[in-house]
Amino acid sequence: MSAFAALGLAESLVRATETLGYDEPTPIQLAAIPAALSGRDLIASAQTGSGKTAAYALAVLQQIHARLRPALRRTQALVLVPTRELAVQVGETLRQLAQFFDEPVKISVLFGGVSINPQMMALRGGAEVVVATPGRLLDIVAQNALKLADLNCLVLDEADRLLDGGFADELSQVLALLPKRRQHLLFSATFPPELQQLTAQMLRDPVRVEIASAPVVEGRIDERAIEVDEAKRTPLLRHLIKEGAWTRVLVFVATRYACDHVADKLRKAGLEAAAFHGDASQGARTRLLADFKAGRLQVLVATDLGGRGIDIAKLPVVVNYDLPRSATDYVHRIGRTARAGEDGLAVSFIPAAAEAHFRLIEKREGRRVPRERIAGFEPTETVTPDTAAGGIKGRRPSKKDKLRAAAAAQRGD
Ligand code: AMP
Repeated sequence: MSAFAALGLAESLVRATETLGYDEPTPIQLAAIPAALSGRDLIASAQTGSGKTAAYALAVLQQIHARLRPALRRTQALVLVPTRELAVQVGETLRQLAQFFDEPVKISVLFGGVSINPQMMALRGGAEVVVATPGRLLDIVAQNALKLADLNCLVLDEADRLLDGGFADELSQVLALLPKRRQHLLFSATFPPELQQLTAQMLRDPVRVEIASAPVVEGRIDERAIEVDEAKRTPLLRHLIKEGAWTRVLVFVATRYACDHVADKLRKAGLEAAAFHGDASQGARTRLLADFKAGRLQVLVATDLGGRGIDIAKLPVVVNYDLPRSATDYVHRIGRTARAGEDGLAVSFIPAAAEAHFRLIEKREGRRVPRERIAGFEPTETVTPDTAAGGIKGRRPSKKDKLRAAAAAQRGD
């Protein structure tokens, strides 16, 4: 008996795992699937790359398989995700895993940024599983195109993200639409206080699953931190791409403007590069991603929002051209590489003014990445008390900083 069958999955699902080349369940799948099938609430700490999507997708599909199908397709499971890219990927995984069902399961994927009508049309006749971003889901419910009164299972994927700033409101509106009795499956890379609060309110005696070490499907991520002046980052990036013969690189920057700007400079230097951010239409983003996956595009320059949920097998290198704002974003970013067992490289550029901020990220993550310098790109900028304080986003100069600045001013430096 296959290890997937031993978890209690139907033959058609086991066959799908074989077709997808999953030899064995990953640790998160081993722990989460039986817990979810027991009907209990689940809270799982799982990084992208751990096999978490298949973990809940298999559990949700198994439950649908086990239930007698009512004539009308009622929405039994809702998967909420923070981005359209993730919505598309989760929808794909669900469809692949459900491909051998005797009676087809209808899976609808709803996300904003594209016309609402085709999504409403596709919902006619109902859908057993809905994957959605919260905003578009609310729009569709407001149009009476979807009813959630029969929901059995709610999945929150990247739950920490869903509670991030913009989503919290929409999330509580969605929760208010659901029947009180339902199962919750929560997956999150981190557990910030807001999430703990929400889980305490929402979940009943949840099973907790924590996969402590780096997930098995992930390879090793080699982290590097290179000291370089801000103005030298693009030439350094070009140098590294050439020296390392990097065929596919995901570069993270802080703003949409920087996204266009860096991509532009790389293109002018003769590289196949493109900017990937929320301004582009969904069609354009899908095309870019397809080009990048197929190797037609060498460098993708993205903001955190753009880069979230990008799942590309064999993405060898991620570069933090600008550092992320938080340690959580750092984990998400470097998690784009070393997927599905491959080793990966995550390079961060550290101009003098960003050193203090990077140290903060290291502290939160409990690790230290040795600083290095590349010949020909050694930094000349030094940090002044002003820039040092400015390097930590949201941090005001402390009393000590001010004293130091005053002393420096007196010395005349
Ligand atoms: P996720 O954590 O959901 O982003 O999944 C990361 C990658 O692992 C995806 O490309 C999956 O196709 C792959 N994957 C999921 N489960 C398994 C498994 N049991 N064996 C091998 N690969 C898997």
